[in-house]
Amino acid sequence: GCLVMCSSFPCATPENGTRDTSPTIVLDHGDPTMYESYWQKMGNKCNITFNGNDSLSYFANGKSLCWFLESKLEEQIKRLHKIVGNAIVDNNYIVVGTGSSQLVQAALYALSPSDQLEPISVVSASPFYSAYPDMTDFVRSGLHKWAGDANLFEKDGPYIELITSPNNPDGIIREPVVNGEQGKLIYDLAYYWPQYTSITSPANHDVMLFTISKCTGHAGSRIGWALVKDKEVAGKMTKFMEISTIGVSKEAQLRAGKILEVVSDSCLDFTLENFFEYSRSLMTDRWQRLRQVVTDNDIFFIQNYPRQYCLFTKDVCESHPAFAWLICKGGEEEDCEKLLKEHKIQTRSGRRFGTDSRKVRISMLSRDEDFNIFLKRLMTIKGCINKK
Ligand code: PMP
Repeated sequence: GCLVMCSSFPCATPENGTRDTSPTIVLDHGDPTMYESYWQKMGNKCNITFNGNDSLSYFANGKSLCWFLESKLEEQIKRLHKIVGNAIVDNNYIVVGTGSSQLVQAALYALSPSDQLEPISVVSASPFYSAYPDMTDFVRSGLHKWAGDANLFEKDGPYIELITSPNNPDGIIREPVVNGEQGKLIYDLAYYWPQYTSITSPANHDVMLFTISKCTGHAGSRIGWALVKDKEVAGKMTKFMEISTIGVSKEAQLRAGKILEVVSDSCLDFTLENFFEYSRSLMTDRWQRLRQVVTDNDIFFIQNYPRQYCLFTKDVCESHPAFAWLICKGGEEEDCEKLLKEHKIQTRSGRRFGTDSRKVRISMLSRDEDFNIFLKRLMTIKGCINKK
């Protein structure tokens, strides 16, 4: 159809006729740089300093089971969850990780039985976060093994299911899909924050993972945390961290603690700009503009999300996921990633998420400048079809 024609005649010239010579816009990872403008406005409110004699010890100053967790970070994690209302923190152990990426691996280790001859199956419903297969199999552990799409999993016996909610890549609120008795569940709640989705109830599961990366945009600090009900599981996760990195950088933890403190303050102190209101309105604006372009060029489909009451904003809100999940209206053979690449937009193919090449994931978290170029280029795809 017209898409095939279009993709064989790349057409990255904007409608005003001037050639678009700038490089490919990279939107294939979810690098959360869009919050930079907010943090710039916060000026020196987040500054912290370290003296030469600070943070020398491997150990932290707290009393946590996770012996390297800084008490300042622990306190601010609890405070923020209570203010936002997105997770129950009381009676949970907190384990800090170098990003939630390390905690996914720690949780897989902790939930895998150590007395089995066969590795435990690890599944997640397709489309699943593209890093899970590698996180599970990269070091070829004898403990666990990637078993693909949870919807197709039929084996009896123990398994681990990763539940990402809202989901990466498609933003959908999820529940477990395998109905086995011997399932262990890991809830990856990286995107369960009010700028992306309505907070409908405080999450309360056995193992829940969060990350500062998608909450505040400080992906470079590499701080994630797990809320864990069972003491033995939390202990095993802590052991995993001990063996892999003997803990997590104290500087990163203390900076993350400060950032979370400022986010919480911004929700309570009316003289500060509320971080979630700011980020939510940016996301709302981006999604509106994207939907308009998608409607106009009529070659992609994006799904609608249900409007739900949000306990944090105290209003009915629509979801504005961190990624757009675009589906090409063309036939089965369409390669949406390739089409967009020809228009200098780098995205991630549906194939990487356990589905097909008619779908692509596009980050909605880039800087304004890149997002604007992205929309402009997306518009020209229509221009391209019209010319043919
Ligand atoms: N889980 C999900 C669903 C994610 O999208 C990401 C980041 N792309 C992560 C975990 C890992 O985030 P980080 O290691 O930066 O905390």
